[in-house]
Amino acid sequence: MTTWTGTTTIISTIAAALLWGRFYYVRMRRAGAQLKALQLEYAALLREQQGITFKIKKIDGRYCYTMADGQLFYRLGLTQADIGKTMEDIFPESMHAYIRSIYDRAWAGEQFQYESELKGYTYLNSVMPIKKDGQTVEVIIVGSDITERKKAEKDMQESEDRYRRLVDLSPDAIMVIGNGKLVLANQKAIQYLGDGSLEKLMERPLGTIVHPDYLTRASKHVQQVLERRDVLRPFESVYLRLDGQPFDVEVTASWMQYNGESAVMVIFRDITQRKLEKQQLQESNKLLSQLAHVDGLTGIANRRFFDDMFDKEWELAVHGALPLSVILCDIDYFKAYNDSYGHQEGDTCLRQVAGVLNRLPLANGGVVARYGGEEFIILLPETSLEDAAAIGGMLGDSMMKLAIPHRASRVSSSVTISVGVAAITPTAWADKEVLVRHADTALYEAKQQGRNQMKIYGSESMVKEGV
Ligand code: GH3
Ligand code: MG
Ligand code: MG
Repeated sequence: MTTWTGTTTIISTIAAALLWGRFYYVRMRRAGAQLKALQLEYAALLREQQGITFKIKKIDGRYCYTMADGQLFYRLGLTQADIGKTMEDIFPESMHAYIRSIYDRAWAGEQFQYESELKGYTYLNSVMPIKKDGQTVEVIIVGSDITERKKAEKDMQESEDRYRRLVDLSPDAIMVIGNGKLVLANQKAIQYLGDGSLEKLMERPLGTIVHPDYLTRASKHVQQVLERRDVLRPFESVYLRLDGQPFDVEVTASWMQYNGESAVMVIFRDITQRKLEKQQLQESNKLLSQLAHVDGLTGIANRRFFDDMFDKEWELAVHGALPLSVILCDIDYFKAYNDSYGHQEGDTCLRQVAGVLNRLPLANGGVVARYGGEEFIILLPETSLEDAAAIGGMLGDSMMKLAIPHRASRVSSSVTISVGVAAITPTAWADKEVLVRHADTALYEAKQQGRNQMKIYGSESMVKEGV
């Protein structure tokens, strides 16, 4: 039994060993096949990769390529026949020193990345030394083509540079507000708001940039831009310089994305000068229009102003059925005055007479104007013929008081005037010219009657013209 048992044991052990062996053999074969498949897969992967994978070894002081594959390898014009060649065989001499320095670093055990350019391609290489017993035996370098990425980066950089230059050189001040703070400002903005210093500008709380009167509006604008992603039409505001000095600005604001966040771009320009010029223009226009209505010699209103006022007052008189009066005055023997005293003295005389007329107490917007030469006219709205005659009478008295000597006058020893007065309560169909014409007729009559007197149109001594 024992023998049988022993024999059985031996047989079963052998059988088990055979079986195990068989099993092991099958496993080994399967593993070998799997390994081979895996190797093929890796080889294919290596070949199909867009970049390049290669190994170098230092033999007799020279770096040789012991393996290389990948699409970039073939794109560079290399083939498997180049494997085994030295670095010096492959690269132009101008590159030898540089490449050797890189390979030396790797051989010294350093693991690193470097960028290189070859035949118009840029690639990023990862260098991994393989060590055995602390000694580098091989270096694996994996390179990937980053030409497109580099180009995109370069384009991006260029476009950003261009944009920055544009922003910086802009004649307008530009600043960007993000998260309630100033995040960017160009030279012009720095100049206006930071007295030339970016740091000083950045330190300023936003609330100190806008004049307190405009602050509420400014924060509403910022809110509006952020909420609606809006662009605001130009509007006027007042900003404060670093020293608190206010200045007028024209501002536009628009939404923008800054570092991935919503922000407001504010563009402004100093319009202090523009506003000043506008104000000066308005003032000079006012002055011009005043000048256009003022007689240069006497300083009182001129005929143009009289005509304008006459038209207006005529309309008002028509609508209100109100009387309108006119007094025409003419200096007597004025030609003789000029001849006797000289033209300059004549001018002085004209100014003095104008002064007398101008000092008359006229109600209801009465107008005194130089009508031409030595002739003056007074427009008296809402004034009856009677009241106008009273004013005309005052004129004669004033001239007597003025007492400008006139040795060439045939009626007096001093300068006198003749006066014609007329009045009308105009109707819508009445002739506008008639009032002055009547005053002129009265004046003519005064001259005819010997000068230095007043004639009232329509009084008994005159022939009445139909109104
Ligand atoms: P009459 O009593 O009939 O009004 O006679 P007159 O000499 O005043 O009137 P006439 O129309 O003959 O002459 C007007 C003069 O007024 C002639 C002109 O030299 C003078 N004259 C007009 N404008 C000016 C002026 O601006 N300055 C001076 N100095 N003289 C002027
Ligand atoms: Mg005259
Ligand atoms: Mg005269």
